[in-house]
Amino acid sequence: SKDDGKGACIFYSDCIRDRLLEEKDIENHMRAALQNGEFVVYLQPKIELGTRKVSGAEALVRWNRPGKGLIGPDQFIPMFERNGFILELDLYIFRQVCKRLRLWLDCGLTPVPIAVNLSRVHLHNMEFIEKYQRVAEHYRIPPRLIELELTESVVFDNFKIFMDLVRELHQVGFALSMDDFGAGYSSLNLLKELPVDILKLDREFFRETANNDRGKTVICGVVSMAKELNIRVVAEGVETEVQAAFLKKIGCDMAQGFLYAKPMPMGEFEAYVFGRKLD
Ligand code: C2E
Ligand code: CA
Ligand code: CA
Ligand code: CA
Repeated sequence: SKDDGKGACIFYSDCIRDRLLEEKDIENHMRAALQNGEFVVYLQPKIELGTRKVSGAEALVRWNRPGKGLIGPDQFIPMFERNGFILELDLYIFRQVCKRLRLWLDCGLTPVPIAVNLSRVHLHNMEFIEKYQRVAEHYRIPPRLIELELTESVVFDNFKIFMDLVRELHQVGFALSMDDFGAGYSSLNLLKELPVDILKLDREFFRETANNDRGKTVICGVVSMAKELNIRVVAEGVETEVQAAFLKKIGCDMAQGFLYAKPMPMGEFEAYVFGRKLD
């Protein structure tokens, strides 16, 4: 459950102490956990709205903690962003994805591009681009098979750093996907300034606004402007056929959501896309 009995704490200071102990415990174990392969990559398909074919996937991390089960990223990513471990974890996920793409290529399969999430913390450690490039080269992965997702709000943290980052990523050949677009920061005008390749309409934005006409107008505006700018649009968190039909009608390119599939282990994804498991 969400508060795992923490609501039962009588004294506030006890709760804080429990949380600090829990954080310390995780900090003591996170590196070993990485070595032991406890962090697992799940893949969620992205569907081409025109053809209903799988045209990509997003890699989403899960932590398989012995005795505690599968833990979702919201439970540990914020802590790893505070203590810096996210840099190692993101690189690890990226490496796992490259390894798997190599396996698909070696098996004669036609891989779809995989999107990997990048924490905002990377913006203060720009050497990461070279590291990622080296990993992709090591596994001989064509850069067009790699997309990096960066949340929209980083643009406002430091516009110049963001622009430098996009330029460097494009030099390597990785595509940049603007995650959580519409979550509250962007203006349509800003879109013209952003040299991104893919725009992901935020799930919340979509859920809250898709039901009313004003929201629909905004989504239409974003999609049509993106089209003019040659930016592909992915809607995330699509759960109903009604939403999918609307998105298709207004020219949104791709959708990702429980309507099609939940994030799944890589073997299941292979069964889903290629009709065979490689595990
Ligand atoms: P995100 O990048 O916005 O990822 C989309 C989230 O929406 C995922 O949650 C996914 O499971 C969920 N989702 C997809 N379709 C639907 C739907 O139809 N309905 C609903 N209700 N949810 C849907 P998840 O896997 O729990 O990930 C949460 C967040 O954790 C991600 O949000 C991302 O910000 C972060 N994250 C996940 N993996 C990584 C990683 O490897 N590195 C970094 N830095 N962050 C990660
Ligand atoms: Ca994402
Ligand atoms: Ca997102
Ligand atoms: Ca989101």
